[in-house]
Amino acid sequence: MPARHANLLSGSADLDPARSTRRAERHGLFRSLERIYADLPDTVCENCARCCFESPGIFYVEYLHALDLIGRYAERRREDTARRAFGELLFSWVEPERTCIFLQSQRCTIYDRRPLACRLFGLVPAPERERAEAEARLAARQEARRLQQFGIDVPEAVVRRSLTSCDKVTDAAGRAVTVDGEGYAARVARLDAVLLPKQTVIEEFCFRSLPERLAAAAFGAEAVDGMRTQLLRRAQAGASAEELVRLVLRQTRLPRPFLAQRRRAHDG
Ligand code: SF4
Ligand code: SF4
Repeated sequence: MPARHANLLSGSADLDPARSTRRAERHGLFRSLERIYADLPDTVCENCARCCFESPGIFYVEYLHALDLIGRYAERRREDTARRAFGELLFSWVEPERTCIFLQSQRCTIYDRRPLACRLFGLVPAPERERAEAEARLAARQEARRLQQFGIDVPEAVVRRSLTSCDKVTDAAGRAVTVDGEGYAARVARLDAVLLPKQTVIEEFCFRSLPERLAAAAFGAEAVDGMRTQLLRRAQAGASAEELVRLVLRQTRLPRPFLAQRRRAHDG
């Protein structure tokens, strides 16, 4: 399941996440999502976190599920999450060493709400994995070429940054396990179809990461693409990445689940 390589089209970015969350709750979509996750087999692995090398692509309902959790964080942690998200969005194309924004001290900080893409890692059969790998590389190559037209050099290590297989995932008895990843993805996509027009579900599927969805909701999808290109050029000309992220956040109105909970945290 490729994460970072899709263009940021409009679609779900035009929706108010707070309203979508209420709708998801009314329809029991978070409970349905958790049931889908629970249907996956129990597995063990070496927990090396190598597969957390970037923020994964998530479905819209998974984005809302994660936002709901982030909205409960204390203010400083929420701001840190936003900083990480925009840092990844802006600079993952030029910095090969970035990791998923939820990875801290080698641990997943949203483990119970980690998306399907993470849960399927190491579980999908080889042909499905190879197809995903080829698609991700092709899309990365195309995006690198597009960015090069704007004078941005994308290191080859970024284009090749992927890890689509891991043979360390087994059941408790040490046996390899495979599942129908596309079948699971189709089940989650059906939950998205309660919230989004059919065409949007098909176009977006799980091709956007949380940072991409967050930025698209804050700025509008097309503006994000332009902003990223402009800031990458400034970074390549020597501007500090940290300062650029701060600048973006000063101009950002984050989606309401962030802000509504912030008020509650203050009230409490
Ligand atoms: S699935 Fe594989 S790469 Fe990911 S944490 Fe487990 S052992 Fe490491
Ligand atoms: S959400 Fe968690 S499990 Fe998934 S890539 Fe990020 S840190 Fe790893």
